[in-house]
Order: sequence, then C-alpha cells, then structure tokens
Amino acid sequence: MDQLTARPRPTPSVFSEGFWAAARQHRLVVQRCDGCGLLRHYPQPMCPECHDDSWTWTPLSGRGTIYTFTVTHQAFHPAWADRVPFAVVTIELEEGVRMVTDLPPDDVDHVAIGAPVECWFEDHELADGTTFTFPRFRLAATA
Ligand SMILES: [Zn+2]
Repeated sequence: MDQLTARPRPTPSVFSEGFWAAARQHRLVVQRCDGCGLLRHYPQPMCPECHDDSWTWTPLSGRGTIYTFTVTHQAFHPAWADRVPFAVVTIELEEGVRMVTDLPPDDVDHVAIGAPVECWFEDHELADGTTFTFPRFRLAATA
C-alpha cells in the first residue's frame, strides 16, 4: 500500500492519546468528567457542562444503534476508492455517547436508523513495524 492509498491516520493529541492507547488494547473508552460524571466524545480538554478540566477514561460496551446516516457514493480519498458505496453513520452508544464512523461496505444495503451496531477493532501495521488501531462499527447480528 503506497502513501497515496493508505488510509489517513489520526495524530493523537494530549487529549486523545488515551482513546487511541485503549483502542490498541481493543477497548473502547471515552472521557468521563471528574467533576460531574458526564461522558463525552470526541476527546476534549474541558467538560462542556461544568468546565472541569479533569477526566477519567471510561470503558463503554461498544453496543449501540444508528442515530442517523448517509450513504457515500463518491470516494473523497483514494484509500476509500474500492469501498464505495459505504454508509457514514452517527452511532448512539448504550451509554448515551455519540460517535461518527463508517460501516463496512457489506452493511450498506441494510443500514437503517435504529439498527443495532457493535464495535470491532481494525489493526494496521505501519511501515515502521508499529501498529495503529481504529475502533470501527458494524451492524450487529440480530437473534
Ligand atoms: Zn463536568
């Protein structure tokens, strides 16, 4: 995979490094405000409710439902060229936190608001031998 077709990877910041470190361990976490207990995502320096600047990384179940979605037919980056069409979704996790992600291409024909989803982890080996892990979501099997 050359640099042009490699999926861009986020650069962890002082605020998000705990999220990415947990992902490497295949754990989904968000910030829980130490002041008022609010769960929040994306990682940010201060609680939007009480303005406390301390937090604790808190594990989530990884289960949720689709809050809203759109289907992308145009690849906006070469790394996604062989994946269109795919669904870009806002997930509402059981704990009430929302995250934006994409679903695997095979899920595009079955995506629907309210459909159950589950988290999985996609490991990428980098050129320097290290790995980077993305928390991803897919439609959950319904019994
Ligand atoms: Zn707070």
